[in-house]
Amino acid sequence: MLNYIGRFAPSPSGPLHFGSLLTAVASYLDAKHNDGSWLVRMDDLDPPREIPGAADNILSTLDAYGLHWDGEITYQSQRHDLYEAAVQSLLTNNQAFYCTCSRKQLAEYSSQQDQPTHSPYPGTCREQHTPPNIPFSIRLTTEGAHQPVCINDKLQGRFCQNLITDVGDFIIKRKDLLYAYHLAAVIDDHWQKISHIVRGIDLLDSTPRQTHLQQLLGYNTPHYAHLPVVVNEQGQKLSKQTFAKAIETTQCSRVLWTALSTLGLKPPTLLQHEPPEAILKWGTLSWSTKAIINVTRINSTQITIDV
Ligand code: GLU
Ligand code: ZN
Repeated sequence: MLNYIGRFAPSPSGPLHFGSLLTAVASYLDAKHNDGSWLVRMDDLDPPREIPGAADNILSTLDAYGLHWDGEITYQSQRHDLYEAAVQSLLTNNQAFYCTCSRKQLAEYSSQQDQPTHSPYPGTCREQHTPPNIPFSIRLTTEGAHQPVCINDKLQGRFCQNLITDVGDFIIKRKDLLYAYHLAAVIDDHWQKISHIVRGIDLLDSTPRQTHLQQLLGYNTPHYAHLPVVVNEQGQKLSKQTFAKAIETTQCSRVLWTALSTLGLKPPTLLQHEPPEAILKWGTLSWSTKAIINVTRINSTQITIDV
């Protein structure tokens, strides 16, 4: 495929675990199988949730696994000017507004709603188009989004969301002045000309919001493939919360081989003893998203592994 540009965008909130390695490997193989490039973007947008040293740790782990990226790493922490420019243009076009609602007010509103047709945001501040002199967040209006926003996901199929009733006017810049992930991700994907996004299914639900933002900002929508979540035998997601271990870099070949099998490929047993680069080369040739669909035992949203 011509002009395939893919990416892996970890948040430096901890070391890579097996689930995040799987996302890295799947996005890498999908890109390389299609003769594309594979970029790495560090989503260091939220300092309070970051762990010192995690970004470097992630990068050295990727390197140890032979997942060598193309071009320079992009750091979201260095791109605030771009995000601010987009926020300002959305404000100027009345597509965004200043919101001074407190958490308490919003919680009271949602506890009073018993009809699912109500928007999660009451619309209180929609007409606030000049900066208030008390702390504010900036929300994007979903007022005009009467049609559901749909994506055709390569692994999950068609996925639609009604932004008015399912999401409501959502935050693009927080009260603490941090930019929201949706905004930053959409802007970076656009500036880096990302054509294909392979990422975890936990982000499927955010994709219509991102598509809506892409439309408002005049950007193309990339192709999406959301990977099933990896769960342990108790059905728990492997994440920091369920104490998924950081992956070791002492047995990269064995772990990488397991990652390929988890993704539904059938790497030859002897390949476990080859260097990571050789395993990735085999994976690149053998890659097929159909393999993932075949391996998922319950449905396309979960892969169960014995860890
Ligand atoms: N940084 C996000 C995460 O680690 C991923 C963002 C993306 O792939 O769009 O969950
Ligand atoms: Zn408000």
